Amino acid sequence: MATGLEETTLIQKEDSVTDSEWQHVRDRLRETYGEAVFKSWLNPIRFDGISNGQAVLTVPTRFMREWINANYLDTLKRYWNTENKRVYSVNVMVRQEMNKAAESQLADNEVISIVPAAPVVASPVANFTAPSRETEASTAPMSSPLDPRFTFENFVVGKPNELAFAAARRVSESVSIVPGCNPLFLYGGVGLGKTHLMHAVAWHILRTNPERKVMYLSAEKFMYQFIRALRFNQAIAFKEQFRSVDVLMIDDVQFISGKDSTQEEFFHTFNALIDQNKQLIISADRSPSDLEGIEERIRSRLGWGLVADLHATSYELRLGILQTKVEKLRDVFIPPVVLEFLARKITSNIRELEGALNRVVAHATLVGAPVTLESTQDVLKDLLRANDKRISIEDIQKSVAEFFHIKVSDMHSARRSVAVARPRQIAMYISKQLTTRSLPEIGRKFGGKDHTTVMHAVKRIEELMQQDAELKNDVELLKRMLQS
Ligand code: ADP
Ligand code: MG
Repeated sequence: MATGLEETTLIQKEDSVTDSEWQHVRDRLRETYGEAVFKSWLNPIRFDGISNGQAVLTVPTRFMREWINANYLDTLKRYWNTENKRVYSVNVMVRQEMNKAAESQLADNEVISIVPAAPVVASPVANFTAPSRETEASTAPMSSPLDPRFTFENFVVGKPNELAFAAARRVSESVSIVPGCNPLFLYGGVGLGKTHLMHAVAWHILRTNPERKVMYLSAEKFMYQFIRALRFNQAIAFKEQFRSVDVLMIDDVQFISGKDSTQEEFFHTFNALIDQNKQLIISADRSPSDLEGIEERIRSRLGWGLVADLHATSYELRLGILQTKVEKLRDVFIPPVVLEFLARKITSNIRELEGALNRVVAHATLVGAPVTLESTQDVLKDLLRANDKRISIEDIQKSVAEFFHIKVSDMHSARRSVAVARPRQIAMYISKQLTTRSLPEIGRKFGGKDHTTVMHAVKRIEELMQQDAELKNDVELLKRMLQS
């Protein structure tokens, strides 16, 4: 019997050499695809060894294997081959033990959720009143679970998110599609409230317009269902499931990028739904035009409706969020000076801000001591340090692109017109100054450029700053802004 076990015994593992080669391949994948894609799809891959010129990799589920084969196989092969000339192909297998479980689930379960359910960690700050309806009962069967805390009532509105909020509100209050808002495309960095807003739309419709059918799915879950349907020749049945849905929301579509036929099919479905007058809400961590690996035709279609940007938080918004959260606390008093301190220091995103507050509250509850500025600084030492120095090349590219009105994707391109090349050089210069990355690392982040290109850019900007006061001001402003 040709079992996976026999295959495993053939594999020779050449100890630490191949392990470090695999580590290099992983590093390059992370650089190429970015942290988000890496975490979701590539990090779970384990390296088992080399067998007959094949690198054997294992993943936890069949779905992942399909997905990796469809999207990342060529790159994996290429990177392995550069590391180790004897490796000319890659074999992705499903890990034995998990395979069994997944198989049996596949057989007796209509829907497998590969999306972790909403976290149920009891958080001292999370004692909001939950909406009364049961999640599973009221949304469509394929929906991912909704977090009861993610309602409009719990969403604090400020300048950075007011457009996204207003649009989401509008869609949730309408009894049909909202003209000019289909699809509604919400985008912004992690932890800025995209998922919160989408769940809020779902909760609001469930409460006020229960006859409207809402479906909320993470992009991975959508893809999972879709690929599965294709495999079992149920593509038509799959599309049928959406027929009765009035509002379809798909979260984090950046995970759908990648060149393959599945993406193509996905967007056919998407088009069909729009043609059938379904309201669509899509979220991503970047704008439609910056969604790399998605065809131009599809990107522009995604941007046809309303594109609403959730901007980086402002001090006021952060403070507002903290204030609303502490109002709900009964047993702990947090002095305003502590809230101001947190709002000033934890600037990365709202998720982290909430986490910081939770820690302060948890600590106070545990030790039974009043919260002070000193105790806060002490409890959050590591977090504060991380927030102090964490400026990523991606942040720099984004800010510089925004400042000069060019696309973030131009930072990775080879276009040479000054309008694009100069901001790119500035971004390289700032990356050298504000991060600890080496020249080759910086080059890689700018679409795989050589370290000499980066060196040249740094020199050039230094020269220009001597000659051109305006450029000098721009660069210094950008630096201050990134460091604030
Ligand atoms: P994203 O999907 O953009 O990564 P989330 O929607 O998951 O971010 O938000 C991260 C956390 O921050 C959630 O706990 C959410 O409730 C909270 N949050 C985000 N924006 C706001 C806001 N404007 N008001 C209150 N809480 C917010
Ligand atoms: Mg989200």
